[in-house]
Amino acid sequence: MSTLLVRSADVVVTMDAQRREIRGGSVFIRGNAIETVGSDADIAAWIASDPTARTPARIIGARGCVVMPGMVNCHHHLFQSLTRTVGTGSGLGLFDWLKMLYPIWSKIDADAIYVSAKLALCELVLSGATTVADHLYLFPNGSRLDDEIRAAQELGMRFHPTRGSMSVGESAGGLPPDYLVEDEKDILADSRRVLETFHDPAPLSMVRVGLAPCSPFSVTPELMIDTARLARSHERVGLHTHLAETLDENRYCLDKFGKRPLEFVEELDWHGDEVWFAHMVHPDEDEIGRMVASRSGVCHCPSSNMILASGIAPVRAMLDAGVKVALGVDGSASNDGNHMLGEARQAMLLQRVGWPGFEARADRMTAREALELATLGGAKVLQRNDIGSLEPGNAADLVAFRVDGIEHAGGQSDLVASLLTCAPGRAWLSVINGRIVVEDGMLRDIDLGPLIECHNRIARGLLEKAGLG
Ligand SMILES: [Zn+2]
Repeated sequence: MSTLLVRSADVVVTMDAQRREIRGGSVFIRGNAIETVGSDADIAAWIASDPTARTPARIIGARGCVVMPGMVNCHHHLFQSLTRTVGTGSGLGLFDWLKMLYPIWSKIDADAIYVSAKLALCELVLSGATTVADHLYLFPNGSRLDDEIRAAQELGMRFHPTRGSMSVGESAGGLPPDYLVEDEKDILADSRRVLETFHDPAPLSMVRVGLAPCSPFSVTPELMIDTARLARSHERVGLHTHLAETLDENRYCLDKFGKRPLEFVEELDWHGDEVWFAHMVHPDEDEIGRMVASRSGVCHCPSSNMILASGIAPVRAMLDAGVKVALGVDGSASNDGNHMLGEARQAMLLQRVGWPGFEARADRMTAREALELATLGGAKVLQRNDIGSLEPGNAADLVAFRVDGIEHAGGQSDLVASLLTCAPGRAWLSVINGRIVVEDGMLRDIDLGPLIECHNRIARGLLEKAGLG
């Protein structure tokens, strides 16, 4: 089994139970798991005590770096990289933005899904993500969840793809156009197929499939119930959807169903440790309490919430109450980025801003708390205890960011906080499942130039086909 020693890091951020930060630290990896973590001196002594078994096959010196657990991105739509900046530059709200994009997205095919997933995952890995949950909810022109899984497997990303769905089109009172919705029988059959084909519940799994109606209002209540039942008939299958993203949505739900969004989905069996909601910008106190009781999680997406003017999620209140909160870049078309470290910075900044009912407070979120959302927070929301921290037995997923460049110059008092208080950097090293994916700031196996060119050719083609080119 191959061995790798990452040593001499300025700081190793473990995110273990004691939240140890080790100055001059090392991480020893065997195969796809972490064998031990400690100070350089301790690890050198540990190796010397059994050199035959412990002399590493490869050593990477990480002086000038902060080494931390690979980050976990819990909400995304990778295909949206193809339509970055459509409507966001000029400033559209969520519903108008969606209506502008549906005709373009309807031209997407299998190749577009594959290429956009590959590109967005590359961008994510370069920004420090090592696990990604994606929410793919439209499948036009023969595209399938398989297309993005192939991209993740080729890159070596730990992947939680979710099989999304939309079944209530405009003619039935829904938001999406009829040509983008699917028959509910087909949705359930394909959900079953992808679970049986790809889902791996084992520890250190590289692919776990989830099920994810786009929102409770773009499918029927029956499909919400059937989807939850199907997910629970398999081990460790997550349930995911958008919820309480905007005040419009809260109003719509109250007008149409006489209840708020969380109560609405809870009555459809959507509550529990396996459930996580994207956004939750507008929960009230009662709803926060209900999420604590049910152990349902939240994925906070600050950039998207700002770009679409959805609001500021009360993350501080949710964390203080004990809600599981993760971080997601969302988008890409509502971000317009795939920068995981940048998203942690946004989470920290946005919580500090004042908004109605909350005074501005610089200590509402610290840099370390934001980094915790992006690592351990994501692991908990995805029901994983094998990622999110650098500890013996956990997956060998780590990233190193350089802190000796111009962006961090002078940040010597707190190198860990400088990851977020200074301009967010690019991963210098990324190891996923024990395999080096990024080295010296470059993807090891992928030539980005041709990939970007191909991606942009497809993006231009979509605009042309939709009559916007
Ligand atoms: Zn989303």
